Amino acid sequence: MKEDSLLIDLIETIFGEPKSVNEYSGQISVDCPVCSYEIKGLSKTDGKGNLEINYQQHVYKCWACAETHGTHGHLGKLIDEFGSKKDKKTYKLIRPDKFEKKEKVYKKLELPKEFKKFDEIHPVHIPRKEAYNYLKKRGITDEIINKYGIGLCIEGEYQGRIIVPSYNKKGELNYFVGRSWNTRAKLKYKNPEAAKDFLIFNESLINWKKDIYLVEGVFDSFFLDNSIALLGKYVNDNLWEMLYTKAKKNIIVCLDGDAFDDAKKLYDKLNGGSLYNRVKLAKLPKDKDVGDLKGEINDYILIEK
Ligand SMILES: [Zn+2]
Repeated sequence: MKEDSLLIDLIETIFGEPKSVNEYSGQISVDCPVCSYEIKGLSKTDGKGNLEINYQQHVYKCWACAETHGTHGHLGKLIDEFGSKKDKKTYKLIRPDKFEKKEKVYKKLELPKEFKKFDEIHPVHIPRKEAYNYLKKRGITDEIINKYGIGLCIEGEYQGRIIVPSYNKKGELNYFVGRSWNTRAKLKYKNPEAAKDFLIFNESLINWKKDIYLVEGVFDSFFLDNSIALLGKYVNDNLWEMLYTKAKKNIIVCLDGDAFDDAKKLYDKLNGGSLYNRVKLAKLPKDKDVGDLKGEINDYILIEK
């Protein structure tokens, strides 16, 4: 949309070049002026990119100082405070008259109707055998299969995929991941359309009073007790909020070995406010992920960054 690009330009004029722009979610991150000037007393911005602005929803929030300095709210407030007269005028022209909460409506999620548990299919059935061998090869035991309710689809839209369901704290399905067991498949993952930007994968299994590990993939999470699969390298706002308010012990960032720069960014983002000094960073060997370590993660947690 034209308004979007005008707004991105305006944000860039006021806050400098964004550290990241996500056109799908409408999220931009820039350096926080409150953190940089008011809190740290710097003469230029701190380079952390902690201020997140959502230009589709016209809201903003700083990961580091939202709680302590009230750096969150409607975008108009932020522009009033840091924009020039001209910037404020520009914003007035592009801001919508009415703010409708743009929440996508997703239909209630259900497992594929062809979904079956492993023990519902005869063990000599060939596709079942292939799927089961694939899991064994990745170190996934019967115990893990039962704990996570892992199943498979032999036909239908998710044919040839192992299905890992995710449940929210009320025990309702909130997502599932469909991983092809054929290692040559073009599309490794096929996942449903659902509110992924709000998702906490297997929230039902998390104990907020214990150390929490953040890992990239669902298959990583099987090998670390009390871990959360991010389904990527980022923490969404909902998960951030939950970590910020509910996590009582440490949070250990354990992204894949080849994503250490992203892991560091995530560490910086989380290590503030009530989480300060409780966030730890694991540095995995370049070609390794959590599944390769077989639980020896503590050997890889950095003492100093
Ligand atoms: Zn800030």
